[in-house]
Amino acid sequence: MIIFFKFLIFFAGACLGSFLNVVIYRIPIGMSVVTPRSKCPGCKKSIYWFENIPIVSYLFLKGKCSECDFKISIRYPLIELLCGVVTLVLFLQISSYSQVYFFLFQVSIALIFIALFFIDLDHKLLPDSLNLYLGATLLAYSSFEYSWKYMLMGLLIGGGFPLLITWLFYKLRGKIGLGGGDIKLWAALGIYLGPVDVVHNIFMSCLLGAVVGLSLIAAKIISKENAIPFGPFILVVATLQIFMPDLYAQLKALVV
Ligand SMILES: [Zn+2]
Repeated sequence: MIIFFKFLIFFAGACLGSFLNVVIYRIPIGMSVVTPRSKCPGCKKSIYWFENIPIVSYLFLKGKCSECDFKISIRYPLIELLCGVVTLVLFLQISSYSQVYFFLFQVSIALIFIALFFIDLDHKLLPDSLNLYLGATLLAYSSFEYSWKYMLMGLLIGGGFPLLITWLFYKLRGKIGLGGGDIKLWAALGIYLGPVDVVHNIFMSCLLGAVVGLSLIAAKIISKENAIPFGPFILVVATLQIFMPDLYAQLKALVV
């Protein structure tokens, strides 16, 4: 019974992952996430519900459209799997049913992180709608724990500090350093992380971005002119800060 219940939680998470695939594909191109029904990009055939069962359908269809053999990206089932695993792991961390609200908030935050991560990788864009949704979720979540002063300071410093750096960089070099989406993401994260940890996030993600970016240039995977999206670095650091604070403290001790 308990195994079955865990499987149900995993499957619910995988279904959310299936919806997240739609969000990741549609939001950056301005499409509604509700209508119309998903179609095969190859032959425009509507996708039936039984072809849309997370992970299972991909395996059953052997990664191809049932009509025209159009190849379905392996990323779709992998995101479904990731969301299923994340939902189950977060569920296993709560010890009583009174903590269900805590679990629901954490799942929402994790899902928005995953959506932002892949949209930024694909389009170098962090949509305002998702940043706003994240900010609202973090505000509701934080209001259980923190004072409004803490949240407001986090928001202002999270948004204001990188804005100031960008402005200075622009004055000195005549170039825009950071994207508006990155700055709005920090502002949203600041609500929960607070004024101190959001500044940590700014430094740590810049450091991580520089290390990864320079390594990719050294390995000739990208050229100097290719800008890599910055959102994923902010999100990786924020994931450690919010979901794995002990690991984050150990990593921080190595750097600072
Ligand atoms: Zn097709």
